[in-house]
Amino acid sequence: MNVLAILVLALCASCASGARVAEGASEARGETGPVESGIGAGAAEKRENIERLIAHNSERIRKRLHQDGGKYTVLGEIDGLTLEYDVQNAVQTEGGALSVPYAAWSEADGALRGSLLWTPPESDSGVVLSFDDDYFDVWERYFPLLESYQARATFFMQGGVNDFCTRAQAAGHEIAYHTKNHLDLRRVSEEVFVEETLEQRAQYTKAGIELGAFAFPFGFNEEWMHKKLFPSYARLRGFGVSLHLYHKNNNADALFVRSKSIDNIVYKDDDAFYRDIAFILRAVKFLSDDAIVFLTTHTISSTADWGIKPERLEFILKSAAELKLHFWRFKDLSGGAD
Ligand SMILES: [Zn+2]
Repeated sequence: MNVLAILVLALCASCASGARVAEGASEARGETGPVESGIGAGAAEKRENIERLIAHNSERIRKRLHQDGGKYTVLGEIDGLTLEYDVQNAVQTEGGALSVPYAAWSEADGALRGSLLWTPPESDSGVVLSFDDDYFDVWERYFPLLESYQARATFFMQGGVNDFCTRAQAAGHEIAYHTKNHLDLRRVSEEVFVEETLEQRAQYTKAGIELGAFAFPFGFNEEWMHKKLFPSYARLRGFGVSLHLYHKNNNADALFVRSKSIDNIVYKDDDAFYRDIAFILRAVKFLSDDAIVFLTTHTISSTADWGIKPERLEFILKSAAELKLHFWRFKDLSGGAD
């Protein structure tokens, strides 16, 4: 499977039930920039202004992720000029900042090329890491690793409530739901659908666990299912190999998101995994102050297809920590039932 080829990149401003807005977070926020001051404002002056805005990583620059033929890029738009930021090849400086190369070209401004010194700031950007199915014992063995990076995860449970749920919740993780029997919900009767998705909720509630999020088995979902489930779950999660970014502070009451698989079967090659993850995490941090990415795997194992190698998991945790990215749970996202 070629992951890169089907990468869909969009920063989603308000993704309630699939309404997607492919728009960067950096709306113009009233900052004074290079105004078109007419006579006297020479091309050189305008260019200097733009270079200053780039150097300061101004919020006036509207940033977005772009995908072209399997290649990821971070683009920035300022006064009709499109910049390309090479966050993948940004270099760590001695002061701890990253030196991010950028390049642009336009008829009016000619070639612009340089490096921006960027220190990842404190912000709401982060990763929503989730694990699916029923690998309770394995997951629990990795609680100390998650804890050592202050990482909280969401566990999408297949089946009924058990002791794992209580211990996971006590460790700060979120328990969410992933059906009773992991059926393809497109192929079941309405009665079975309800049984699979809603019936066990009561026993969770009884055990002190509020299920606020639901993940579709295999990621298969249809619009009618959203309608049926949103009254009970504020967050619905799809699953696939493509990448979608969202805003943490989307304030959506009902939110459907697509989570990216980071399973071993999707990344057979270590280099591709490390390269993609490094890029994705940097891009999430660089793009906006509340961009988030949803990443999903299953067990934690060096050999399982549907699972993540332990060292890969640790790489995500470590890289995110270095970039000051948070690990959010579904229930941390703004809006929703709470
Ligand atoms: Zn599953």
